[in-house]
Amino acid sequence: MHIGILGGMMDPIHIGHMNAARAALRAGMDTVLIAPCQAPAHRAAPVASAEARVDMCRLAAAKENKIKVSTVDLREGPCYTADTIRILQDQYPGAELWWIIGADKLPTLPCWRDKEYLFAHCGFLVCPRTFSDVSIQVPDARIRILDAEAITASSGQVVAALHTYHDAADLLPHDVSRYIALHGLYQPDYTSALSRFGLSGSRVQHTLGVRETAVDLADRFGARMQAAAVAAMLHDIAKAMPLTEMQDVVSRWDLALPDEILKSGNLLHGPAGAAIAEHELGVLDPEILSAIACHTVGKPGMSKLEKILFIADAIEPNRRPYPGLEELRQLVQTDLDAAVLASMRRTREYVLSKGGRFCTITEAAMQELAAQKEENA
Ligand code: FE
Ligand code: FE
Repeated sequence: MHIGILGGMMDPIHIGHMNAARAALRAGMDTVLIAPCQAPAHRAAPVASAEARVDMCRLAAAKENKIKVSTVDLREGPCYTADTIRILQDQYPGAELWWIIGADKLPTLPCWRDKEYLFAHCGFLVCPRTFSDVSIQVPDARIRILDAEAITASSGQVVAALHTYHDAADLLPHDVSRYIALHGLYQPDYTSALSRFGLSGSRVQHTLGVRETAVDLADRFGARMQAAAVAAMLHDIAKAMPLTEMQDVVSRWDLALPDEILKSGNLLHGPAGAAIAEHELGVLDPEILSAIACHTVGKPGMSKLEKILFIADAIEPNRRPYPGLEELRQLVQTDLDAAVLASMRRTREYVLSKGGRFCTITEAAMQELAAQKEENA
């Protein structure tokens, strides 16, 4: 039995890690253990919790029957590789153990703690990395060079992509990207921002439900999951403000809005929330901002992301039942536009039944959606 072990913070696990693991299998390993670790003493703490990092590793390995996840390196206290090898020798008696490292680590091997024991009980599989020399000799160490393509992906690159609300499809396994969006990882702590802006516990629950639904729909309809997640988290950020405060916010940022929106907190918290997201929370993505701005009334020419947030708000799992809710949930599984239109129609019926005046912008959005539907029929 040959076991390859791939250690590292896995913050998050990315395609480069998976390529290294697969190369180790091609090199004759029967199994590869992905073993996320605690932060070494000289490194900053990981962004994601140990639990989340393990979850992401499990998702990445879920479809690979020879790649498993081990929590051996998440034990308390300093985690030296030699100690990990001792534990794995107990767990897998008689197995031949090979530690997978990037070529950049090769020159450091002579300085690894307890190296006599380590070199005697563990070999090293070296992944080529751009700009790293794989021909370095390390006395007494058994070294094999993997045929992995030079690994260029790094967690830093992944996090940079996530910070601009991209799913990093070329760097992350899909299910990992989805997990990150669903849990709001590698983004600011927007849950505490919601509390700061006075949202009640049930409103926060609603927001988390909208995120879950919006990410699911973004995945289904091919929109950015990270963008859907952030738009969902912030869509009701202004909801707890008194109307006059919302009006102050939009006038401070010179937003020209029609009276029908300006005079209703139910409608104005969309544009006010977008202004807060942009100017106070530093969200600069125009599509996210406009999705927040129009989540209350919609508009003609809505983007996919705007439609997703609009309908996710109406059907998230914590919504109290209302007539037509289950039909909307069914409809959106197959037809995003039809669900948005149906939801707007339902709102119009409701508003008119209460003797209110229905928003003309929503009316225009509905006409456009209905016309497109007819064209496509
Ligand atoms: Fe809202
Ligand atoms: Fe909402």
